Amino acid sequence: MVRPSSCTRWGSSPQRPDDRPVRAFLRDLAPARELGYDLPSEPLVADELLALEPALSPQARSGLYLADHWHVSSSELAVALADLLRRDGVAIEEGIEVSDIVIEGSQARAVRTPIGTVGADAVVIAAGAWSVRIAKAVGMQLPIVAGKGYSFLVRPRRVPTHAVMLLEPHVGCSPFGDLMRVAGTMEFSGLDSPINSRRVDSIKRLARPLLDWHEGSETEPWAGLRPVAPDGLPVVGRLAKFENVFVASGYSNARYDARPTRGRRARSLDRVQHTIRGADTFRPRTLRARCDHTTPDGRIADEMSGP
Ligand SMILES: Cc1cc2nc3c(=O)[nH]c(=O)nc-3n(C[C@H](O)[C@H](O)[C@H](O)COP(=O)(O)OP(=O)(O)OC[C@H]3O[C@@H](n4cnc5c(N)ncnc54)[C@H](O)[C@@H]3O)c2cc1C
Repeated sequence: MVRPSSCTRWGSSPQRPDDRPVRAFLRDLAPARELGYDLPSEPLVADELLALEPALSPQARSGLYLADHWHVSSSELAVALADLLRRDGVAIEEGIEVSDIVIEGSQARAVRTPIGTVGADAVVIAAGAWSVRIAKAVGMQLPIVAGKGYSFLVRPRRVPTHAVMLLEPHVGCSPFGDLMRVAGTMEFSGLDSPINSRRVDSIKRLARPLLDWHEGSETEPWAGLRPVAPDGLPVVGRLAKFENVFVASGYSNARYDARPTRGRRARSLDRVQHTIRGADTFRPRTLRARCDHTTPDGRIADEMSGP
């Protein structure tokens, strides 16, 4: 399910053949050292880089090898997690949309769905970017927006041996068998916008000179929505207005890093919260502080704040 420890990030820039973007990225990563991440002290350049990842073109001038970055197949991970939960007795109903939460006083009692009302002791709103709609149904405005990204598969001329992040076009390229998944862009165009083919073309135009693939081998693009909070951090915790309604969203680009999947380093979300910025960082009530400088509508922060 998981390809261990084989993810790298590379900075590359034909226009600016120096390692400044890579050094800047390395500086941004520096706080991760406190979590025990194995970070290199210096970028790899030119031949060193190509020796490590021969699938890159010589236009890739500098990069980093991140031994602690992991590369997973999302669909395999989701299926495996669902299997694990089912084995523990959890019932999962697929393809059923929750339209509303039935609230009595400050308690959620049930959720409304097309197949009827389903009783609940507690409700966790974990519907990604769509969490906003469910929260709105119970009068809450979550400051989360949809950040759309695109991906497609290609048949690379040479399959990379690592997952590669091309820093300057900011495009991720991950090997899957003899194919490569190419993913990128962050588009803020709401929950229902169509695929923007100009953005998909720009991913192709910028990525291909660095990790070439066979002309015409691109599959139809897939569009996904990242749930993005104003400060890019997850929103995880109880909504102050209710006793038993929780949110788990806002993962943006860091779904896996922000979840308690780090195993040996962070065995619970609490530990992640403590380790990263203190226990309160991700709780909805801290959104007041997190959003004060980003949202003109103070009401959003008021609704989210509380004990
Ligand atoms: C192109 C792209 C590349 C990415 N690459 C990476 C990466 O390399 N690493 C990484 O960590 N993250 C990556 N991400 C981000 C990651 O995919 C998201 O952070 C993650 O999917 C968010 O998980 P989630 O469970 O919160 O939401 P989602 O994965 O969006 O899941 C929400 C689910 O809720 C369901 N739902 C919505 N409304 C309702 C409703 N009313 N009732 C019932 N169900 C509902 C949806 O159908 C969906 O299945 C990428 C995202 C994109 C778009």
